[in-house]
Amino acid sequence: MARGIAIEDVSKTYDGSRNEPVLALTPTDLTLRPGEFFSLVGPSGCGKSTLLNMVAGLLPPSTGVIRIGGEEITQPQRSTGIVFQNATLLRWLTVRENILLPAKIGGKSLVEARRLAEHYLDIVGLSDAADRYPAELSGGMQQRASIVRALVSDPEVLLMDEPFSALDEFTRETLQDEMLRLWTERPKTVLFITHNIAEAAYLSDRVGVMSAHPGRLDAIVEIPLGRPRTPDIRSESTFFEIVAGIRTQIGPHS
Ligand code: ADP
Repeated sequence: MARGIAIEDVSKTYDGSRNEPVLALTPTDLTLRPGEFFSLVGPSGCGKSTLLNMVAGLLPPSTGVIRIGGEEITQPQRSTGIVFQNATLLRWLTVRENILLPAKIGGKSLVEARRLAEHYLDIVGLSDAADRYPAELSGGMQQRASIVRALVSDPEVLLMDEPFSALDEFTRETLQDEMLRLWTERPKTVLFITHNIAEAAYLSDRVGVMSAHPGRLDAIVEIPLGRPRTPDIRSESTFFEIVAGIRTQIGPHS
């Protein structure tokens, strides 16, 4: 079951160096519906990762409260999966061992985790690479494995911080489609960070537009595209208009 995320009056000020506090995020209110795919876009330094890390329970907010499914977040949750920009696989474990590790640690049913792992590995084209070590895989394959790892424990909430940004355009688009397919099979609430407006529009139900100095959430744009989304949408004029509309919200300085 997916759970919604409520971000209420949440801000973050870092101590900063030389005792100069850095206001990374001004007080922000945002509610993600259960099962929603929500992206944050904005220039570097607008507080995207700060917000995601607070939702992950990795960083305490300076003000306000974050709730997932009504429960206040004060520490990392087993029911939340995270994928970062660079694959964080353990190099001494095989791909399959890496993928099953969270389920093992979390005391989940390994029978179900193994079944899901094989299924997702197949969808992302990694079945033949499952017994190899991360160093033997390309960056794109490693990132696929990280995504599968986050999904195998079937998290209710999935947090993704620029998961595709280190990849070439072709791999990136393939992974966007794989991501949507995996999300459709087992809906979960997704908070997805990207610099790429088209990527946000293609994947999301809504896109939050942020700006920097200080970091803030300026606008929320509904994406009026049906689902399932298929690659041909990317070359339709409606899609270009949606992307242009989001870009307008970002303004000329970003
Ligand atoms: P984004 O993910 O949008 O690039 P971040 O959330 O990483 O933005 O950063 C927002 C602001 O907070 C930036 O000005 C950044 O320099 C600052 N910042 C991030 N982490 C720290 C930290 N640990 N200490 C001090 N300032 C930080």
